[in-house]
Amino acid sequence: MDSDTAFLPPKSTHALGALMVAPFWTVLEQHVGAAARDEAFASVGLELMPSDNEMVPEAKVLALHDYIREAWPGADVQMFDEAGRVAAEMFVVSAVAPQARLLLQNMPFSMAAWLVGKSVRLNAAQFTGSGLFAIQTTSRLAIYKNPLIGPRQRGARTCLFYAAFFEHLFQRLAHRDFICSETSCCADDSDHCTFQLKM
Ligand SMILES: [Zn+2]
Repeated sequence: MDSDTAFLPPKSTHALGALMVAPFWTVLEQHVGAAARDEAFASVGLELMPSDNEMVPEAKVLALHDYIREAWPGADVQMFDEAGRVAAEMFVVSAVAPQARLLLQNMPFSMAAWLVGKSVRLNAAQFTGSGLFAIQTTSRLAIYKNPLIGPRQRGARTCLFYAAFFEHLFQRLAHRDFICSETSCCADDSDHCTFQLKM
């Protein structure tokens, strides 16, 4: 092992799954066009779209979020919302077998929601990277040390992407009436981001 990296944690703990980036490729193209999309991706060092199993450094994903907020204030809300839902759909297709989806849809929604939370926790490294995903109650999720909160996002609840991600996931797999909103955020000096699920 290279002595310069001997005491660093494994790279995978500071990387996120491709599903955290790939949705922005099409969402940005739809909202601002391919040229502006390419410029955004290139400016954060993501010239190529990551392949499905590729891990992407958290810093690049955070930089892409910052870029979107700063380049397209106002429109960013819709873009993060759409990208979060696409990411959730990618997660469903890759992590939940069709038979399991059918089972979830046919059981009491409270039990389905509990199982969906468990499945999310098992796969959390893909979308929380070095952060820590926790199920606080059956209807409250948390991300500690959210890797997508940086110094340029102080003082605002900003995790629209995650809220849309969780909302779509629970709507798709447990009950279509679930809504999810962020009720506290690392960007507001909380030590974790909290996502409340309601019906
Ligand atoms: Zn947050």
